[in-house]
Amino acid sequence: MHDVLPDESPRWQALEAVVAQTMLQYGYSEIRMPLVESTDLFCRSIGEVTDIVEKEMYTFDDRNGDKLTLRPEGTASCVRAGIQHGLLHNQVQRLWYNGPMFRHERPQKGRYRQFHQFGVEVYGIDTPDIDAELILIGARLWQRLGLKDIRLEINTLGSSAAREQYKTVLVDYLQAHREQLDNDSLRRLNTNPLRILDSKNPQMKALLVQAPALNDYLDTESSDQFALLQSYLDNTGIAYTINQRLVRGLDYYGKTVFEWVTDQLGAQGTVCAGGRYDGLVQQLGGKQTPAIGFALGVERLLALLEQVQSDVVQRTADCFLIPLGADSIAAALLLAENLREQCDGLKIVMHCGGGSVKSKMKKADKSGAVVALILGEQELADRTVTVKFLRQHAPQICLKQSDISRHIDEWLQTE
Ligand code: ATP
Ligand code: MG
Repeated sequence: MHDVLPDESPRWQALEAVVAQTMLQYGYSEIRMPLVESTDLFCRSIGEVTDIVEKEMYTFDDRNGDKLTLRPEGTASCVRAGIQHGLLHNQVQRLWYNGPMFRHERPQKGRYRQFHQFGVEVYGIDTPDIDAELILIGARLWQRLGLKDIRLEINTLGSSAAREQYKTVLVDYLQAHREQLDNDSLRRLNTNPLRILDSKNPQMKALLVQAPALNDYLDTESSDQFALLQSYLDNTGIAYTINQRLVRGLDYYGKTVFEWVTDQLGAQGTVCAGGRYDGLVQQLGGKQTPAIGFALGVERLLALLEQVQSDVVQRTADCFLIPLGADSIAAALLLAENLREQCDGLKIVMHCGGGSVKSKMKKADKSGAVVALILGEQELADRTVTVKFLRQHAPQICLKQSDISRHIDEWLQTE
């Protein structure tokens, strides 16, 4: 679990601002869910035999003896909130959220125990136009962030009936090659055979090349919808590849699934993953409601951004105000407040605490400010300030305090 340190937070804020603006552009509303839910919610939604539920959840008993879990993802909470507040039945909801998720994984680059997801969930639309829209949102984000090396993989998992039928042929095939299966796959053979398709083990990958393909068992509705999705993507100029091995680690997905992947981040290359989950609302006690969503790994996206962007340096101050002498402090506090009131958005940092004039000037320079405003005894008496230009070669000037706000824009521009 990581601290986001002061020199890293501008990058986070910039990304969060792009996300929030983009979601506004698409007409999505933000939802904020609690970080803790009943453990049962995740067991029922994500699935008992998934990595998350089997070994990654932070679960504890609270003082009432209730079993609670730090949320490992947002979809289950979003569905829970939607059902609880009557947002889903016979309605269309386009929602997004952003926040920390918790999984007890082996920490490594791009894989943390507290990480952040920006997620989007749409309820009440069963046609693939919305599948395309979610993919377009991803593409727009990459474009706005200046990221080029993210490619799209799509697949369809078919209806649950089609998947059940396929599971039996897949299991038959794998049973016939039982001696070649690794331990993970042996375990999943009876519990979650589709997940074997997702194996990262090269030996398993080789075995799976010959395995029956889900594609041959698809229901017509799913394959028609998948064809439509492809035509929408073709039409909007979104490049993609169909990856028939693409399944999702969570149980609730069916029909469309997709991932945005990059080669720039080593093993942890999936930046964003999503898909349809038309059965989940009902499974969690709501009325049958079509649903689709994706979640984006914020840390992975930031790592990518770091590679392409030069530093986002944000100066903490535009003006650095320095009182000289104990008598000036009260007047400086008041002057700073007046300037903040007059100049919306202006960043004014006042020097607080002691120190020599030299060290105060050093701090002014380090703050990134364009000017230092100095308020000494003489200035105090004359209701003026001395303005020292920190980013340009110009002689210092003396100004009436009441005139400062008129000059600020000009100072900031000549930087
Ligand atoms: P993986 O196969 O990498 O474990 P997953 O299937 O568990 O991924 P999802 O649950 O679909 O991942 O989460 C969506 C996205 O959230 C991932 O694509 C990734 O970008 C990010 N993510 C998931 N787990 C972590 C983690 N432990 N640390 C950082 N980011 C993560
Ligand atoms: Mg995982």
